[in-house]
Amino acid sequence: MSFSKRKPKPENNRRSFRIVIAGANFAGLTAAVNLPQNYSVDVIDCRPNFEFLPNIHELLSGIKKPESLRIDRKRLVERAGHRFIRDKVTTIDPVKQKVYTSGRKRVPYDICVVAIGGVNNTFGIAGAAKFGLPFKTVAQCQHIARRLEALSHRKQGMALLPANPELGCNYLDGRRNPFTSFA
Ligand SMILES: Cc1cc2nc3c(=O)[nH]c(=O)nc-3n(C[C@H](O)[C@H](O)[C@H](O)COP(=O)(O)OP(=O)(O)OC[C@H]3O[C@@H](n4cnc5c(N)ncnc54)[C@H](O)[C@@H]3O)c2cc1C
Repeated sequence: MSFSKRKPKPENNRRSFRIVIAGANFAGLTAAVNLPQNYSVDVIDCRPNFEFLPNIHELLSGIKKPESLRIDRKRLVERAGHRFIRDKVTTIDPVKQKVYTSGRKRVPYDICVVAIGGVNNTFGIAGAAKFGLPFKTVAQCQHIARRLEALSHRKQGMALLPANPELGCNYLDGRRNPFTSFA
C-alpha cells in the first residue's frame, strides 16, 4: 500500500479536500480528532468500538468489564465532525485514489491515512500459530478467559506461557488455582 504523492490543495479549497482514514483505534482516531471539520473526512474501521487495549488483560481478573474498555467509534468520530464507515478495507488504489471495502464501497480520497495496526508474528516458533491464542482485542481476551476458566476445573497441572506477563499475573490474581504455574 502506498500514499498519494499529490500535494494538498491550497488553503481556500480545503472544504473539498478528502481524507480517508483506514483503521480507527489509537492512531486512526487520534488523526481523526485532530483534523479540522472543514476537511471531508471518512473514517473506516471494521469493528464498531474503539478498544482501550492497554487494559484488556484486566478482563482476566475481572477488574475490568468489556463495556468499560470499549467506546462507540461512530459517536467519537461524529463528535469530531467526521463520517464513520463500519466496513473492512480490502484495497487501496493509489492511482485511482480510492479505498475499496468488503461492503463494496468505493471511497475517494486526496490523502489516505493507513492506521490498521500490526500483524501477529510468531517468529517461526513451531506450533505457536496453531496453538497460541492471540491477545489484541477485547473479544480475544474474553476467549482466553473462557478457555482458562474451563481448564481451571481440571485437577491437572496447567502452565501459562503468556507473551505478556501482565496477562499471566492478572489471571493468577483473579482466580487462585493451586495447579497453575506461570513461566
Ligand atoms: C494487551 C496490550 C497492552 C498494551 N499496553 C500498552 C501500553 O501500556 N502502552 C502503550 O503505549 N501501548 C500499549 N499497547 C500497544 C498499543 O495498544 C498499540 O501500540 C496501539 O493499539 C497501536 O495503535 P494503532 O491504532 O496503530 O493499531 P490498533 O490499535 O491495532 O488499531 C488498528 C485498527 O485498525 C482496524 N483495522 C485493521 N484492519 C482493518 C481493515 N482491513 N479495514 C478496516 N479496519 C481495519 C482494527 O479494527 C483496529 O481498530 C498494548 C497492546 C496490547 C495488545
